[in-house]
Parts: sequence; structure tokens; C-alpha cells
Amino acid sequence: MKYETILQEIYIELKSLSITGNLTTSIPELSKVNPDKFGMHISTIDGQDFGIGDSNEKFSIQSVSKALTVALAFSFLDEEIWKRVGVEPSGSSFNSLIQLEYELGIPRNPFINAGAIVIADMLVTHLENPKQDFLDFIRMISGSPTIDFNLKVAQSEKDTRFRNAALTNFLKSFGNIHNDVETVLDFYFHQCSVEMTCKELAHSFFFFANEGKTKAGVQVLTQSQVKRLNALMQTCGFYDESGEFTYRVGLPGKSGIGGGIAALFPKNFVVATWSPRLNKKGNSELGMNALELLTTKTGMSVF
Ligand code: GLN
Repeated sequence: MKYETILQEIYIELKSLSITGNLTTSIPELSKVNPDKFGMHISTIDGQDFGIGDSNEKFSIQSVSKALTVALAFSFLDEEIWKRVGVEPSGSSFNSLIQLEYELGIPRNPFINAGAIVIADMLVTHLENPKQDFLDFIRMISGSPTIDFNLKVAQSEKDTRFRNAALTNFLKSFGNIHNDVETVLDFYFHQCSVEMTCKELAHSFFFFANEGKTKAGVQVLTQSQVKRLNALMQTCGFYDESGEFTYRVGLPGKSGIGGGIAALFPKNFVVATWSPRLNKKGNSELGMNALELLTTKTGMSVF
């Protein structure tokens, strides 16, 4: 497969698209980003790397981190985690409160905010130094020791935390948050503030495509556990646009409001895109187009 040529073709085709999306407004610090950035990076399972555009520039991974926190929690709690978080698509927006009340504080899945906040609570309970241990985990899986939090972004999200604070307090009223609300939120805002380049993000997600093994050969999850998390990314990774993403792209993946998307074709490749202009559902507009072009041109998707 000529990935280099395909990336160039995608890059040219994207330039002719008229884009209507805008930067997120929910985290003030993120509205300072240049909206016209675009990067894309492919890492193949046999060790090749191909990047284009701004693929070596750092951006805020935001909710893409939810796939990494659930992987870490799954690695030591295994199926236990599903007692407190479901595995069903929500059909509602990422920060919705509606379902939580009638489903008695059990979030639909780990990729909506409520579910990710419950996973954050599990990590706060089980890790000795939660923020540092999470950072060490993503540095290890990505092979990139310079990956870090962006403290300004974390603070900016803290300053405007009203909805996530409401979700966490509501979850706590059902007994589904075991730690102090502010401590859990602090962890959650830091995990979302992590910055990576497209290349680092693709390398971080490598184990999802490589039967649980990182690029450096560390077995992070079992093959069966990775199969399950990929299934969840396929059905829930794009909130109430997960069906649309599956229809157009046909790969499991996870998006974030920083404009990043990580997606993968098991046993073949991992791909990361970054373009900060979001569509109405909070997913990167150009990123989705780029990935649709990738699976159309290569014919490589899980379907
Ligand atoms: N930190 C963001 C929030 O909680 C993440 C949302 C997202 O990327 N979809 O609102």
C-alpha cells in the first residue's frame, strides 16, 4: 500500500472542501488555537511511519484520552469496571446529563464525560500518584518521554467546569464516585489536557491495533481485552455520531474537542488526524473527511 501517495492525495482533496466547523468554545484556552491546522499520521503494524501537514505539532488530545484511561483501568480491574459503567452507545451528546438520572448514575459507556469521570475515579482509587502514573503510562505506550499535561488548558477547563462538576456531583449522589469530587475532576481535566502530536497519538494507540502490544513490544492488555475496547470505540467513540463515523469511515476510533481523532485497523495500521474545526456533534470535521478518504482509497476498513 502506497500510504505516502495516499496521504498526499487526501491532503490535496481536503483543501478543496468547504468547511463550516469552528473551534470549541467550551474551554477558553482552546479557542486560541489556529483553526486551520491539519495533520495526519499513519503508523503501520510492520513499523512504517507516514505523516503529512502539521503532524508533528502538539495539540490537546481532550477526549481521545478516554480510550487510554479506560485501557489503563481495564488492565488492572478487568471486567469489574463494567459494574459501574455500561457498554452501550448513548445517542446523546458527550456532556449530557439526561440519561444519568433514569439510569441511576450508571453512565452508558466510558467515552461520554460521565463514563470517563467514573473511570477517572477508579484510577484515583487504584493509582498511587494518579496524575504522574497516568503520564508514565502514556509515555511508556507512546515511547515518547516528553508527553505532558498542558497546565493552562487544565486550569482553563477547571475555571469553566460547571457542567462536568454537575455530572460528577450527580454521579456521587448515586454512589458512583468514591473519591472527593474536586480530586476526580482535577485528574479528569489533566488527562484531557495532555498534548501530543499526530505521530505520538498514533504510537500511543498502536497496542489497540497490535493485539494489546505496544510498538516497543510491551503487552498492555490481552488480545481479548483489546478486542472489547475496539468494539466500544466502534460503537461509542464519537458520541451521538458513532453511527455516522462507522458508516463513513468503518474503523474503531476516538475523537476529542481539541480536534484530534485516533483510529485503527486491527493488525494493519493506526492513524491519527488533527484539525480543530468541529462539526455540530463536537467531532473534527476535516478529520472525519480525511479518514473517510483513507478507507475509501485503501479499501481497508473493518467492514
Ligand atoms: N475536556 C472536555 C470536556 O470534558 C472533553 C470533551 C471532548 O473532548 N469531547 O468537556
